[in-house]
Amino acid sequence: MPLGEITWLRGGACRTSDPELFFPLAPTPQQEARAKAVCARCQVLDQCRDYALGAGESEGIWGGMTPDERRRTRFPAGWHSPAAS
Ligand code: SF4
Repeated sequence: MPLGEITWLRGGACRTSDPELFFPLAPTPQQEARAKAVCARCQVLDQCRDYALGAGESEGIWGGMTPDERRRTRFPAGWHSPAAS
């Protein structure tokens, strides 16, 4: 789904933030913490997180989660695809 069609994104607390905070070229723990602080007060956090996990967004902070955190949520330790077994 194109981002322009995601209406809940208009209610995101990050709308007025610097995009570099959420999509940095070189992520740091400090940048991630600052972005997560914005997400923590966002009224559409749940929708954002559900979207990012469902869409497999591989870059940036979405729904208060880093790409690694989303990957671990989608593919927890011990996860194997049927084709890999
Ligand atoms: S949860 Fe975070 S990334 Fe998602 S819309 Fe809200 S502020 Fe933006």
